[in-house]
Amino acid sequence: MQMYSEADVDISCLANRQVTVLGYGSQGRAHALNLKDSGFNVVVGLRPSGASWAIAEADGLTVQEPSDAVKGAAVVMFLTPDMVQKSLYQSVEGDIDQGAMLMFAHGLAIHYKQIEPRADLDVSLIAPKGPGGLVRRQYEEGHGVPCLVAVHQDASGNALNIALAYAAGIGGARAGVIKTTFAEETETDLFGEQAVLCGGATELIVAGFETLVEAGYQPEVAYYEVMHELKLIVDLLHEGGLRKMHKFISDTAAWGDMISGPRVVGDTSRAAMKAILTDIQDGTFARTWIAENENGMPEFKRLMQADLVHPIEKVGADLRGRMDWLEE
Ligand code: NAD
Ligand code: MG
Repeated sequence: MQMYSEADVDISCLANRQVTVLGYGSQGRAHALNLKDSGFNVVVGLRPSGASWAIAEADGLTVQEPSDAVKGAAVVMFLTPDMVQKSLYQSVEGDIDQGAMLMFAHGLAIHYKQIEPRADLDVSLIAPKGPGGLVRRQYEEGHGVPCLVAVHQDASGNALNIALAYAAGIGGARAGVIKTTFAEETETDLFGEQAVLCGGATELIVAGFETLVEAGYQPEVAYYEVMHELKLIVDLLHEGGLRKMHKFISDTAAWGDMISGPRVVGDTSRAAMKAILTDIQDGTFARTWIAENENGMPEFKRLMQADLVHPIEKVGADLRGRMDWLEE
């Protein structure tokens, strides 16, 4: 494992050179503001009709249409949704300077060949391991969110150094930047969000809720048990791993954890995880997701709606409304 810290970074390779950030959502806003506060020359590229334009200007940033924003840039960072990066690249490709660097915060568009960059360009990835809000807040507090770095194409011979200077600019080098590849970042990121973080965790919660409610227990009590209290456990895991969690839960909870957890996540779930990983590795997942986008996302909308009207959402909204200390 190779990890870079601030001492390994020569930030001067981006001094007085323009860094263009395309998109101003979760990651885009955090990157653009952190880079600006680090003294970089930042331009934000956005569609004139989009809602983000006024927000970026109000934040004190220079905003231009994408084809103007990329002109003269040493680095062009793609922070739009993954599925619009292909058409956005096609629309600005002719305006990007010779020898500039394309950057990404997630490897999907490059790894699955949605974008096949011009040969004169460097192509790299700086992926913060946290949402944009945290990337900004940690930076403001003098810390940083750890990042991954990867180089896909090194036309200049200096791609890694430039990518690391960018990582330092957003605060990531304060926390450490781990070297990876586009393949490893893309495949592990997709697997994590599907099998564990988003898909696995929400399905586990909903199945636990339904099991209790079907057995006749009150939905409110079920909600507290399987959704509300999850945060307390996740915080312990985040701060100190399995050891800290075991230290703070009761012996009864620890015993139940150890003998019952493997019954829930047993051979069937592990086989499903392997199948999910195979779909990611062989491109099946990406193909399906790209086709879904091209069809106007009917299945995405149907599944999302089913999640949003589930009874756990109604009970949860009512109970959260009584906890005025919760942040919406
Ligand atoms: P987002 O949905 O929050 O923001 C997207 C931005 O792109 C918006 O400002 C939108 O107006 C703009 N946009 C949309 N279409 C555009 C177009 N055609 N031209 C110009 N601008 C356009 O996106 P996000 O969640 O910040 O994700 C951006 C990238 O960061 C993705 O590659 C994602 O995988 C990656 N990433 C996200 C997170 C996260 O926590 N959200 C974490 C790590 C990496
Ligand atoms: Mg789900």
